[in-house]
Amino acid sequence: MTSSAQLSNQATTIADCPPLLRARGIVKSFGGIRAVQGVDFDVAPGEITGLVGPNGSGKSTLLSCLSRDIAMDSGSILFNGADISKMRAMEAARSGMGRTFQNVRIFPEMSVWENALMGRQWKGVGLRGLLSSADDDTRRRATDLIELMRFPQLAHEYAGNLSGGQKRLLELVMAMMSRPKLVMLDEATSGVNPTLIESLKQYVMGLNRDEGVAFIIVEHNIGFIFSVADRIVVLDSGKILADGSPDEIRQNQEVIGAYLGA
Ligand code: ADP
Ligand code: MG
Repeated sequence: MTSSAQLSNQATTIADCPPLLRARGIVKSFGGIRAVQGVDFDVAPGEITGLVGPNGSGKSTLLSCLSRDIAMDSGSILFNGADISKMRAMEAARSGMGRTFQNVRIFPEMSVWENALMGRQWKGVGLRGLLSSADDDTRRRATDLIELMRFPQLAHEYAGNLSGGQKRLLELVMAMMSRPKLVMLDEATSGVNPTLIESLKQYVMGLNRDEGVAFIIVEHNIGFIFSVADRIVVLDSGKILADGSPDEIRQNQEVIGAYLGA
């Protein structure tokens, strides 16, 4: 009895909670290629959503529409109560969105520490003077994030010398500098060795638990994403094929046939 009361309480809370992100009718074509074909997508505050689907199904394009890195053909996006549909990436980032890219974007000729400080560019600090103007709070944040990532010994290493996996973790550190409410990770574990994948998982879950950060994680590693996500969205040919809890998705015959069947 207690547990069903708790469940219904929980359901009420989630239903009452306005989404952090509400995207409607997202459409994006590249010439004749209809990469994203009318996707509706909600993310609740503090929710970890796994976005999966075959290569070319539109996952990266959808992230880029949501983060405003590319212009949509049509659709609307509400984020944190504001209409960001027409915003540029920089403005969307200032409103509390962070992201990483399928092809890692870091500054290879700067140290890990300097890269972390560069994460602030998204707060509108500007590139010039970014390093010299870091206040105590910012330095503490960078130190904490680098320590949490368990590579403080690498703080003064050139980012270009890091392994592929460490570069991905560093990109996440950079995204976290501005204390975003939602972070999108594209191909989070690609090129990351199993030990670092475990670090990444602990890091994501820790940030989710301690700072309430919501995540959208594009991922091919099904073991990883099913263990970390509250919810899985399956994209196929630019459309949502399924959306549910990891257990529901595991049992969805259509998904198994189209994607998980291998
Ligand atoms: P995924 O991330 O799921 O692998 P993408 O979003 O990268 O898929 O790609 C979806 C489709 O859009 C693919 O057919 C891809 O070739 C095409 N596409 C993506 N980006 C571009 C681009 N900048 N120019 C032309 N076609 C693109
Ligand atoms: Mg992609």
